Amino acid sequence: MLRRTVVSVIASTAVLAADLPCARAAAQRPIPVLAYHRFDPQAARSATVVTTPVLEAQLAWLAARHYRVVPLPAVVAALRGDGPVIDGPAVAITVDDGFRSVYTEMFPLIRRDRIAVTLFINPPAISSGHAYLTWAQIDEMRQSGLVAVQPHTLSHPDFRVERARRAPADFQAFVARELAGSRAQLEARFGTRADILAWPYGIHDAELESAAAHAGYVAAFALGSRAAAPGSDPFALPRYQIYDSDRGARFAAIAEGMPRLAARPAPPQPPGR
Ligand SMILES: [Zn+2]
Repeated sequence: MLRRTVVSVIASTAVLAADLPCARAAAQRPIPVLAYHRFDPQAARSATVVTTPVLEAQLAWLAARHYRVVPLPAVVAALRGDGPVIDGPAVAITVDDGFRSVYTEMFPLIRRDRIAVTLFINPPAISSGHAYLTWAQIDEMRQSGLVAVQPHTLSHPDFRVERARRAPADFQAFVARELAGSRAQLEARFGTRADILAWPYGIHDAELESAAAHAGYVAAFALGSRAAAPGSDPFALPRYQIYDSDRGARFAAIAEGMPRLAARPAPPQPPGR
């Protein structure tokens, strides 16, 4: 609240307020960030599956209304007030967990339409079996210039479970390994910054957020039925989990940054895998 008060005072004095980082942050509108997990050409066999025709319809909805799909790092910078303000209707698209269907179902669509997407992956899962992406597929997607890759921890733990079964010092060391290790592996492999985190299952709290800051992250995304807004906690930024039922007015409400419309199917367990 204090920060908002200061911004409004500065803005009201007409002293080049537009050049001040805090004033630019105040001008940024909330941006809906979409969180997908996996795709299937025909059937949504679980809550985290979106069928390819529905994904294509969602992308067409955005294009028809001249939405910009903004790369996630640009959204983070705009929210922090240290990047250009994102004007007009805009969303960001993310996909968690590194499933193979990102390559087989989503990538052909985003390559055709030149859409930016950020993948949050667990590096040890990549090239570990037929359900997951291979490093070669990730390299090909990155080389398109459309796909960025960021950490989703090493082992996709449920941090609540791990806290319950570990001594405090052991838990802290475990968290540090998961956060720093996944970041270091991606940065070593790609030679680019990998400092935006997605919390497994969207689980986070003050201790975890502090650990993410200590591990060098600049932002971390969870889940939540609202757009990511400037001034909100950078280590607890919300994303809309996208379901196969998000069609028509349901998807429009999300893209407009509104609360979800009622009667969505309840996921059977915490979203994430
Ligand atoms: Zn996940």
